[in-house]
Amino acid sequence: MRALYIGRFQPYHNGHHAVIKEIASQFDEVVIVIGSAQKSHELDDPFTAGERYLMISKSLRDDGISNYYIVPVIDINRNAVWVSHVESLIPPVNVVFTNNALVERLFRERGYEVRKPPLFNRHEYSGTEIRRRMLAGEAWEDLVPGAVVEVIKEIDGVGRLRDLARTDTFK
Ligand code: ATP
Ligand code: MG
Repeated sequence: MRALYIGRFQPYHNGHHAVIKEIASQFDEVVIVIGSAQKSHELDDPFTAGERYLMISKSLRDDGISNYYIVPVIDINRNAVWVSHVESLIPPVNVVFTNNALVERLFRERGYEVRKPPLFNRHEYSGTEIRRRMLAGEAWEDLVPGAVVEVIKEIDGVGRLRDLARTDTFK
């Protein structure tokens, strides 16, 4: 049995990691889709698909997990055919794991079994909260796996986010 897990992973954090570890222990293989793969260098989507790929693969390697495939998928902005678009790019899957209401709805309409994984410490383990902390100069490192800290440092991710937040007008 193969399971699908979809996220934007901006960045990959401890909540995603806990869910994927659990799914990987229950299924033969996990297919991890990196959504909005074309986006990067935006305040809500600062990291490239390749950088997110590194964050996920290094974190899973550190925990000895190897039964997964990572597939970046760009947006097509047509919800009615989005599941077909994803299907055209991934290995076949039996079950979809998501807490996103739209993703749940779209896969259910196509006949998939959709399960909702538990949310871990959602107030802190949240991409939005981690990006907010990076911009505010607060500590964010405890909210992501160690490998993600290394990748973000390697690419100066915090510096990038701060540059994106600058404007050329006085406030
Ligand atoms: P953002 O705030 O940027 O939307 P996010 O933390 O919601 O980031 P996503 O990449 O949007 O992360 O989420 C991918 C999937 O992971 C979604 O199904 C989401 O509900 C789930 N998820 C997010 N945070 C947690 C968490 N703390 N525990 C378990 N699942 C989570
Ligand atoms: Mg989200």
